[in-house]
Amino acid sequence: MLSNSEVASMLKTLSELMELHGEDDFSAKSLSVAAFQMGKLTENVTEMNKSELEKQFNKSVVSRINEIKETGTLEMLEELVELTPSGIFEMMRIKGLGGKKLAIIWKKAGIDNIDALLKACRNKELSQISGFGEKTQQNIIRSIEDYKSNSGKFHFATVAEEADKLVDLLKKILKIDKISLCGEVRRQCNIVAKIEILCTITKKKFLANKSAFKFFIIESSTENELTGHTINELPFTIHFTSERDYYYDLFVKTGSEKHVNKIMETLPAKTAHYKSESDIYEKAGLSYIFPELREDLAEWEFTTHQKTESLITDKDIKGVVHNHTTWSDGVDTLKDFVGACQKKGFEYVVISDHSKHAHYAGGLTEEQIIKQHAEIDEVNKKLSPFKILKSIESDILISGDLDYSDSFLKRFDLVIISVHQLLKMDEEKATRRLLKAIENPHTTILGHMTGRQLLIRSGYPVNAKKIIDACAENDVIIEINANPYRLDIDYTLIPYALKKGVMISVNPDAHSIGEIDNIHWGVVSARKGGLTKEMTWNARPLGEIEKWLNGRRVKKGI
Ligand SMILES: [Zn+2]
Ligand SMILES: [Zn+2]
Repeated sequence: MLSNSEVASMLKTLSELMELHGEDDFSAKSLSVAAFQMGKLTENVTEMNKSELEKQFNKSVVSRINEIKETGTLEMLEELVELTPSGIFEMMRIKGLGGKKLAIIWKKAGIDNIDALLKACRNKELSQISGFGEKTQQNIIRSIEDYKSNSGKFHFATVAEEADKLVDLLKKILKIDKISLCGEVRRQCNIVAKIEILCTITKKKFLANKSAFKFFIIESSTENELTGHTINELPFTIHFTSERDYYYDLFVKTGSEKHVNKIMETLPAKTAHYKSESDIYEKAGLSYIFPELREDLAEWEFTTHQKTESLITDKDIKGVVHNHTTWSDGVDTLKDFVGACQKKGFEYVVISDHSKHAHYAGGLTEEQIIKQHAEIDEVNKKLSPFKILKSIESDILISGDLDYSDSFLKRFDLVIISVHQLLKMDEEKATRRLLKAIENPHTTILGHMTGRQLLIRSGYPVNAKKIIDACAENDVIIEINANPYRLDIDYTLIPYALKKGVMISVNPDAHSIGEIDNIHWGVVSARKGGLTKEMTWNARPLGEIEKWLNGRRVKKGI
């Protein structure tokens, strides 16, 4: 059975190819919209019947889905793929290059691969074509450079499950206990380049076991390693070691280089036999350090002042903060969404749909907000003691102002502020814009600080220290946006925020019930930066949250 993301990717590619080849513009658009919506559905589209599909999509999209269901592919897609040079597909992944722009680049300038495009931009040839100014040319150069430095890398969330499954499978097939992930995947880095596995078996024995290596396509091999990619195209390395050296090798192959070197300096004998990783840390005079912390960043605080048990975990999170419903661009109704949060055992949920300036995302006018609050009051009566807190994700305008008046902002229990438009700013402008918004007394939480999307765009540059200082001064909480494509703020900023006494909220930025679980990826990243339960705002129970919000209101005189 095809997954929703596989079907969506076919529709998206078809839509792009239709635009590229000048096919029906309207159908191309509706396919791209459908592909986007599909990513948010919890049911599998290939299992939905015609009338269920027609509730979600228009007729032409439904017939495409049915064709995929029956044939596993789309005839038109196959035809257009045949007509398209292979270099164009890579160009389609460049941010900001839609089908129409690509069509001009390809058909008018005869450019059909990324390298030729980069060369044309650098030689200022592209800006000679009408519709492509100097600015567009610069942006394309930046996007290609971003793309090149990111290719071959993956979001941790897209690799984590497969990596765990591989280890479980190998454990069973090879009948060995001492096998583990190591490297970046074991450290749960935001972005990973490959899956690394360490095991106590010889390479010869491994290769002799046919069922073990049928999951791997091997590309190169050394005495103690096999390298290649999995059947799902993820690069891997398997390291082979002896029973005696297993824990030592696991330690060396897990931590960042700086972490490992610092510990090594204090180890009495490097080649000694260790009974476990804890044994290694103990011999270095330290308590055990979790793999995700081994970055030479926050771990030393935990070996001196704090216990690693005080680190935030998934189960500490009491409330789901920063969520969108059908009131703006979310997929689920407010009722369904909050019902799901309650069912998952949370104590409260913060509904923060888009604000009126974000009209592309269905941002709410003042009248709509008044209606939404009436609905929240109704639902709250039924769900008590569970509670919905009224919020908004208010756009930070280019001036640094928020997009509602102060007297209107008073209506919310809390206000999340984010930048969504006009993202191209230099550091000074971006920092000034954020600082002004942080100083607004109604601002409670700073949402996705840099607007980055990992492996897609780097986000606007900001002076993070100045922003954290301002949050400390103004009692503003900083969000870790837990969407695995954002993870913004970056975990490396957490130690500074904690030093300044700024609390962090781990927010899913959910646009559907399925995305509530994004909290997990935020927690993973937060742990890497050493975030404690105590300093996690939404690890506090409802009573404390309300008391904190009231106290803040009194202090601010609002
Ligand atoms: Zn946002
Ligand atoms: Zn949001």
